Amino acid sequence: MLIIGITGGSGSGKTTALSALADLGAYTIDCDAVYHSLLVKSEDMRAELETEFPGVVHNGIVDRKDLGRRVFQDSAALKKLNAVTHRYVEREVDRLLKQAAQDGFFSAGVDAVELFEGGLGGRCDTTVAVTSPETGRLRRIAVRDGITEESALLRIRAQKPDAYYTARCTYTLVNDCDTTDAFYERCRLFFADLIKGGKPMTREELFYSPKNSSDRLDAAEKAVSDAYSEGYKNYLDCAKTEREAVSSAIALAELQGFRPFERGMTPKAGDKLYRCVRGKALLLAVMGSRPLSEGVNIAAAHVDAPRLDLKQNPLYEDAEMAFFKTHYYGGIRKYQWVTIPLALHGVVVLADGKTVEIRIGEDETDPIFMITDLLPHLAADQNKKTLAEAIPGENLNVLLGSTPDPEDKGEDRVKLAVLKLLHEKYGIREEDFLSAELEVVPAGKARDAGIDRSLIAAYGHDDRVCAYAELKAILETENPTKTAVCILADKEEIGSEGVSGMQSEAFESFLYDLCASQNTPLTHCLERSFCISADVCNAFDPNYPEVSERRNNAKINYGLCVVKFTGSRGKSGSNDASAEVVGKIRTLFAEHGVLWQMGELGKVDQGGGGTVAMYMAKRNIDTIDAGVPVLSMHAPWELVAKLDCYMCYKGMKALYQSE
Ligand SMILES: [Zn+2]
Repeated sequence: MLIIGITGGSGSGKTTALSALADLGAYTIDCDAVYHSLLVKSEDMRAELETEFPGVVHNGIVDRKDLGRRVFQDSAALKKLNAVTHRYVEREVDRLLKQAAQDGFFSAGVDAVELFEGGLGGRCDTTVAVTSPETGRLRRIAVRDGITEESALLRIRAQKPDAYYTARCTYTLVNDCDTTDAFYERCRLFFADLIKGGKPMTREELFYSPKNSSDRLDAAEKAVSDAYSEGYKNYLDCAKTEREAVSSAIALAELQGFRPFERGMTPKAGDKLYRCVRGKALLLAVMGSRPLSEGVNIAAAHVDAPRLDLKQNPLYEDAEMAFFKTHYYGGIRKYQWVTIPLALHGVVVLADGKTVEIRIGEDETDPIFMITDLLPHLAADQNKKTLAEAIPGENLNVLLGSTPDPEDKGEDRVKLAVLKLLHEKYGIREEDFLSAELEVVPAGKARDAGIDRSLIAAYGHDDRVCAYAELKAILETENPTKTAVCILADKEEIGSEGVSGMQSEAFESFLYDLCASQNTPLTHCLERSFCISADVCNAFDPNYPEVSERRNNAKINYGLCVVKFTGSRGKSGSNDASAEVVGKIRTLFAEHGVLWQMGELGKVDQGGGGTVAMYMAKRNIDTIDAGVPVLSMHAPWELVAKLDCYMCYKGMKALYQSE
């Protein structure tokens, strides 16, 4: 049972407060009334009073007027009287509270002027001071007791000031209301909130039972979510490689007033800045009104995705067909990459240092590329192999052409014809492939999936789905309290190595330069910063339930998925965010209406994976993973739910608004 102590000077409104509490179903005790009843009921108390104040009891009745006269302006006598009465009143209050608990009350209110003078205050779970401006108290006492306001004033002056009560109580209820009804309503609302914890919880309140976001959003917000998804699909179509993801992001950022951050600049609050890391990673910041020494809010996603890279000496001819040899990048399942339309994206640095950009296979009129596979009629031996072995890495050769050069009489005439075409269009010779970064990715645009259009099918959701959410959130961030930082990193799929990966010091360098403009040591900024490592997680797939543990696996449409730890086996290689960090995220997301869930990658010992979280934590930044659940992760075409994409964006916005 929750016991609430109520105290304050006379005429403040304690009785109104107590009656509001009683109307909410609490058991209430007015200690003044208890005292008066004890004067009549308790022979023991009367006997003690007679011992202390001889002659005060006549025929078994305490002469209260006489008693009052004897203690008036005699503090020693008053102390003696209180010692007796407090003890009896407390004992009686104890008895009443025990009885109330037995009777099934969930909360009780104890109203006492001298709550803290005896031991009553210590018995209460929480205490409330009722205070009121003097004019209101005068009026109420005069009306209640039928005395003049002058006499009421003398009485108030003889009591303790409001500050005495507010200093000792957990809460203060101020009665500056014009009417008793208005104060009653204030008390009712206050106590309704306070006694919630004392009531038995319903099963709905006790169980953690997440719901489908679709059942939790109204039509208006679903429309916002759909509009967001259109923007995301457009971004995906322009961002098939990390370089394209970065250049598209810069174009969008510049439209919103972001400008390159140069060393030596002194940015002001509200300034929007970016730094491009070798064309393959991007750092953006919106300067906050608080200094960098108080830390920054960081969201970090990656813009690289699993794919097939061309080998450095890729072009060859076999059986009068020309091919590119490839070397896969990131965790792919090789069998998924055969017999699907492919596109070629990337850059070639020519001998003269000039860079040529290549993008073939995305326009409807472009040719696409393919990797062949066996016909089933001859696949008897291949069929016996495991999925991992059936398509060896060295078989992922991209078919380029089949027409021999009509003029040439030598060998490899198909290869020659291909080179002639490449030279004609891009000025490339075979040697130029040595200094090229050409990526083979699935061809085609992001599409709505499902008859209800609730999903998006696309290449590279991992992790552009979080990257775009962060980007859109920071582009919409104006004048944040803390500086907002958005990281679009490269190389996550191969361990965040390399100069454009999250293990590179490009990030420190950027933040160091920002801190230098405020004479703040970088370490001081980092240790007070907060980071969401925004990366995708696996969505529960009912076709493969055996790899997941249902209670702890993310589900599509259940919102942004927070992942406390990643890694494998006994959480090795994991950031494992602290309970405090998860608690912070809970509060933040609740405040901003972000629908979210908690997820873990599959069953224990089933596999594992990592994100950039551990590299952010290594920098002494509180970090937690959160991202969008994905079906068929790392497949050429991955699936996400639109509502989850939108919640990811809302989560990133909340982060940038947090203080
Ligand atoms: Zn990945």
